[in-house]
Amino acid sequence: MKNYKKLWKFGKKEFNTEIYDINKSGELVIKEGNYQYNAMDLIKRFGTPLEVTFPFVIERRLNNLFEEFNRYIKFYNYHGRFFYHYPMKVNQNKEFVIPIISEGGNIEVSSANELWLVKKLWEQDQFSSKIRVICNGPKTSAYLGLISDLKSRGLHIIPIIEDEDELAYFMNPKCSKLVGDLGIRVDVDVKVKSRWDKKFNRFGFSESEITNVGRIKNLKILHCHIGSQIEESKDLVLLLKGMMDLYVKLKRVNPTLDAVDIGGGFAVPYEKKKMYPTEGVVKNIIKTLSEISIKENIEPPDIIVEWGRFLVAPAQITIFKAIHQKNIEKGPAKKWYIIDGSFINDLSDTWAIHQKWHVTPVNNMNAKKFNRVWLAGSSCDSDDKYTAGGHYVLLPGLEEGDPKEPQYLAVFDTGAYQDALSSHHCLLSSPAKVIAQNGILTMARKRETPEEVGRQFGW
Ligand SMILES: *Cc1c(COP(=O)(O)O)cnc(C)c1O
Repeated sequence: MKNYKKLWKFGKKEFNTEIYDINKSGELVIKEGNYQYNAMDLIKRFGTPLEVTFPFVIERRLNNLFEEFNRYIKFYNYHGRFFYHYPMKVNQNKEFVIPIISEGGNIEVSSANELWLVKKLWEQDQFSSKIRVICNGPKTSAYLGLISDLKSRGLHIIPIIEDEDELAYFMNPKCSKLVGDLGIRVDVDVKVKSRWDKKFNRFGFSESEITNVGRIKNLKILHCHIGSQIEESKDLVLLLKGMMDLYVKLKRVNPTLDAVDIGGGFAVPYEKKKMYPTEGVVKNIIKTLSEISIKENIEPPDIIVEWGRFLVAPAQITIFKAIHQKNIEKGPAKKWYIIDGSFINDLSDTWAIHQKWHVTPVNNMNAKKFNRVWLAGSSCDSDDKYTAGGHYVLLPGLEEGDPKEPQYLAVFDTGAYQDALSSHHCLLSSPAKVIAQNGILTMARKRETPEEVGRQFGW
């Protein structure tokens, strides 16, 4: 008898699949402590395409991260503090943001509209004024207006200076309302291997510019975000070392400086191949900071991370139904399975940056026969497909199992970035979305009706 749990890579912490299992009928189940959700029940109740969100996964991951940092801060007798700031652009849905702030996370926003959501939460009393909000991205006048409004009302807002124009703005004594902490962003000159390397970076000041900015009143944070899905953990530490060189120089002129923010970039094992665990990375970060602080004889800085996809990607799966199949004459896959949703629309990174995903069956997981398949979305676009980067996905033959029951499949780790990028090519409806938490299922987004989709296009 085959070990199907192993085949589908479930129950493994290093793959973030510890909550997934297979029941006796070969169906996908999700475990939350003693609660258990059967994916087929969700499908029967809510239909497909369906996104299922697990806020408890976010809470656990964040708590683990706090534990790791606190453990090594203690171990190295480190006197700086650790802050987690959630980059809201990764997923702005309320069911993602609320669990993070309730567990002690802070926020990083990239636009005026994201900051407006923070304001809304705060006005509804769902947000303590102690929570810190880092403001990145180009500051439009609406953005600056909101920053000064919220600052004057006592929120801990920290704008990050992105370029010379913003520097001039924040240094202008006329912006008296804007007293308070500031940060500055640098484009550190280190090469890291990340999945989606960019040749040119247009964010922040260059190293030579930043060593010449001079005195900035209330400068607290040196910030950098170098890339996403950084492939090797040593590069996260390399980045920190590069930043600390600049930090030491900058601190000589700006004694208020007391924090280093290494941005995002912690990778997710989307393909269920072993990557680096948090523990070793956290240990190396605190060790590095500790050694440099002693060597340079400086106060140990606070450490901030904005690891986005790390925290939320594993907190959602997307379920589709295979509605048709077609033969593939030549290629590593033998069949197309056409699904009742769309990669271009709902998992846009498949199309935009050739994102790979872990795909498994939802039912018939213990089938005798599997096909090598490619998946096609149901828009009419030839780019609406998933080929696993030219490999194939293993799924049961559509004739397998109960003939009255269609074949369903799950795409894992869909919690990061996809929602805000999603669109309506061919006017397909977005997937319905359900939240599973404490054994209770809550509908977060109903399936759009034709009227609702049409209305978005002026009909
Ligand atoms: C996008 C972004 C992040 C998050 O990046 P991940 O790769 O998801 O960790 C963090 N900080 C800033 C400034 C960003 O722009």
